[in-house]
Amino acid sequence: MTDTAKPLNFIEHIIEDDLASGKVPRIQTRFPPEPNGYLHIGHAKSIWINFGLAAKYGGLCNLRFDDTNPEKENEEYVESIKRDVQWLGYQWAGDIQYSSSYFEQLYEWALHLIRHGNAYVCDLTGEQMREYRGTLTEAGKNSPWRERSIEENLDWFTRMRAGEFADGSRSLRAKIDMASPNINMRDPVLYRIKRAHHHQTGDTWCIYPSYDFTHGQSDALEGITHSICTLEFADHRPLYEWFLANLPVPATPHQYEFSRLNVNYTVTSKRKLKQLVDDKHVDGWDDPRMPTISGMRRRGFTPKAIRDFCDMTGVTKTEGVVDIGMLEYAIREDLNARAPRAMCVLRPLKVTLTNYPQAQTETLSAPVHPQNEAMGRRELSFSGTVYIDQADFREQANKQYKRLVLGKRVRLRNAYVIEADEAVKDANGEIIEVKARIIENTLGKDPADGVKAKGVVHWVDGEQHLNCEVRLYDRLFMDVAPGIGGKNFLDSLNPDSLNILSGCKAELNLQQATLEDRYQFEREGYFILDSHYTRPDQLVFNQVIGLRDTWQKNNA
Ligand code: ATP
Ligand code: MG
Repeated sequence: MTDTAKPLNFIEHIIEDDLASGKVPRIQTRFPPEPNGYLHIGHAKSIWINFGLAAKYGGLCNLRFDDTNPEKENEEYVESIKRDVQWLGYQWAGDIQYSSSYFEQLYEWALHLIRHGNAYVCDLTGEQMREYRGTLTEAGKNSPWRERSIEENLDWFTRMRAGEFADGSRSLRAKIDMASPNINMRDPVLYRIKRAHHHQTGDTWCIYPSYDFTHGQSDALEGITHSICTLEFADHRPLYEWFLANLPVPATPHQYEFSRLNVNYTVTSKRKLKQLVDDKHVDGWDDPRMPTISGMRRRGFTPKAIRDFCDMTGVTKTEGVVDIGMLEYAIREDLNARAPRAMCVLRPLKVTLTNYPQAQTETLSAPVHPQNEAMGRRELSFSGTVYIDQADFREQANKQYKRLVLGKRVRLRNAYVIEADEAVKDANGEIIEVKARIIENTLGKDPADGVKAKGVVHWVDGEQHLNCEVRLYDRLFMDVAPGIGGKNFLDSLNPDSLNILSGCKAELNLQQATLEDRYQFEREGYFILDSHYTRPDQLVFNQVIGLRDTWQKNNA
């Protein structure tokens, strides 16, 4: 939310009206993750909206863990979510909030509903309850326990809390309308009996409130003015409002829904992402191929690129799928502008420069960024052997091939023009070395004889360089919609999404790379050290993204 010239989205319109009319003196939003997995690109959108709106309008945004489901939640997820929000560039207002810290208040409010004849303890089993619920076209039936007296309900509910009953044997339900066309209003469950250890409250509780009974009241307790969520909660809004209307809450927040972010070639379901991790299809939640925020961080995506991408996708009420190429574009845009350049040869081929004086070495100078002189210059060592990429040499080639060919010339980037004389082969006929000559006096100049180089290739000094590993990534899924055509989403996994190259050779300057630095490896793409595999004696680079979109070309 940086571009002020952009038209306002529908939520911004609502906020500006509310501020102008004095309905709210200041906006307060919240990002409410359930700590049952790592955050993904869809959550990044929600974070960007909630924190971004608060920042734009001088308000505050809370980070609230919606932790009503202890069996699936844990502290590792809590910690990862905090890290991800901060990494995206946001800071929550005050302390972190937990819905679980309102459990006592929510319990009091449940008693309040009972006392006003608005809730009852129901002894139907889960299965019976489903039968009684009815369908979209048929009204439900009243529970036989719906007319219990207030005294009886207070007694049963207190005993539910005291742990007198088995898990799942009873529940507390709101008494609303079993004939409502909105199924969420058909006496929804407010409390379940569940003996589960909770990551925040320990074993204090054996009954846990439902999401619906928790969310709006938590918003009210925190003074949230605009409670922004995704469209699937639109049908829950009447219930959200019913609780606020029937409870002595300190404030009246409002819920607004926008369409969730869906991205092609990937999945944004925590359940599916967890399955990828649990079944070891990927190397953990932060595998660089994962659409998780931690995976994108390890891959080398920048917080700015992710925020820019969220901005590009807009805030609407229309469901749609965004092309992943848009995210990749945002990353290239950000990195092209600021990544220092370096040379790294991924599949090295030795080139011996036969006319370069033996034992001579020299130091050449190259810009750190060709379009930004302020980033300074870097030194490159040069000697009688260099490595170029295997793909940059052919014995013969047509005119389209602008690289090194026998009898032809090419420029070594930031260095001399060379001409290839001979291809040396091993017993299998594989080219293992090229013998070439330097064309004299070609540093920064064309050859004096007028025979120009066909193109420019990157290279690394044969004497002084770093050996490293490079990990190239392709999309994790090969289908535009993983699981398309009724297959399991796992059958859409791309078997070639990870390609590990060892024995790569990089210029010495990369010795200074830190885990935060992203480089453009000239003619290859953008790279960052892998935070997991890199050791002092072993550099491992992740490909952040290629220089241009090759997916369209390869899969057309
Ligand atoms: P679950 O299936 O576990 O409920 P969830 O993705 O809804 O998964 P939450 O932790 O409840 O996970 O989400 C936190 C917030 O992020 C919610 O407000 C939710 O609406 C929002 N959110 C989740 N997925 C997306 C998405 N794809 N696009 C935009 N917002 C999202
Ligand atoms: Mg959810």
